[in-house]
Amino acid sequence: MKKIGVLTSGGDAPGMNAAIRGVVRTALYYGYEAYGIYDGYKGLVENKIKQLQRNDVGQILTHGGTILGSSRLPEFKDESVRQIAVNNLKNLGIDTLVVIGGDGTYRGAMELNKMGIKCIALPGTIDNDIASTEYTIGFFTALDTAIWAIDKLRDTSFSHQRCTVVEVMGRNCGDLSIYSGIACGAEIVITKETGFNRDEVLTQIRGAKAKGKRHLIIVVAENMLNVFELAKDIQANTEYETRASVLGHIQRGGNPSSFDRILASKMGAYAVELLRKDIFGMAVCSHGIEIDHIEINQALSKVKRTTDLYDYLEKLN
Ligand code: ADP
Repeated sequence: MKKIGVLTSGGDAPGMNAAIRGVVRTALYYGYEAYGIYDGYKGLVENKIKQLQRNDVGQILTHGGTILGSSRLPEFKDESVRQIAVNNLKNLGIDTLVVIGGDGTYRGAMELNKMGIKCIALPGTIDNDIASTEYTIGFFTALDTAIWAIDKLRDTSFSHQRCTVVEVMGRNCGDLSIYSGIACGAEIVITKETGFNRDEVLTQIRGAKAKGKRHLIIVVAENMLNVFELAKDIQANTEYETRASVLGHIQRGGNPSSFDRILASKMGAYAVELLRKDIFGMAVCSHGIEIDHIEINQALSKVKRTTDLYDYLEKLN
């Protein structure tokens, strides 16, 4: 009898529930037992583990967040702390584990794998910052939320002939910013990938005025700069009245999009298929909606490719 554990870790992302459901339902389909680990690696260390039945994952496919909860536990980098987690699993006879999270979660899984727990890692993060996968579970839902919010800001920006600066999430990766910038018709996008050159930005804004643009949208990735200071600077040095908004955690929540539901369901089921074939230590990757897998350590050593959307921004303005 195979016993499969599942946990969510790091930042939550819409679609994590669909992935949990995919793991649990597929495990039960094959006659395996499924176990939910609550609050990520912290719950693994604290032995917060419960067997899950079909109905425990009913009515969750459409919900954002994660029914299992998530957490951050920096101490999980210590082997002695991980050993407690491994013992908890072994005491219940669980030797396979599906983890859903970002790069940090993948590192934890790689270490557990070395300690005898057969792990599969699924990419769950709104930032789309995992190099081994084209898309992560949660990215397109967060993008839809950002688009929804920026569209609303555009209405008021147009009415008052303003420049609107919007901060979008994505600490290490500008994907949410550039994708939402293209989808919302932003004039300027500032991310880690583009860098920030104040003079260039002011020149572009003055150029927009010269072209007769009534208003403009600037999308800025989290952690690049203080958007309120930038707004003051733009207002002082161009003809546009300027306002700034930070979208914040609203981008993490909400019902998963069609793409995320399907991607997460497939990935959850696929993880169990791999474990069934006794394949482990793998990260599941997306190529659009198609999926496959590579070793977790290989996944972690990949460098993320920059989207070609940056090439379109200028042409579309
Ligand atoms: P994400 O998975 O979204 O990148 P974090 O970077 O916070 O989020 O990582 C999630 C958790 O994974 C951490 O709180 C920690 O418990 C675990 N983790 C991160 N790095 C390592 C590591 N090098 N070794 C073991 N566990 C790790």
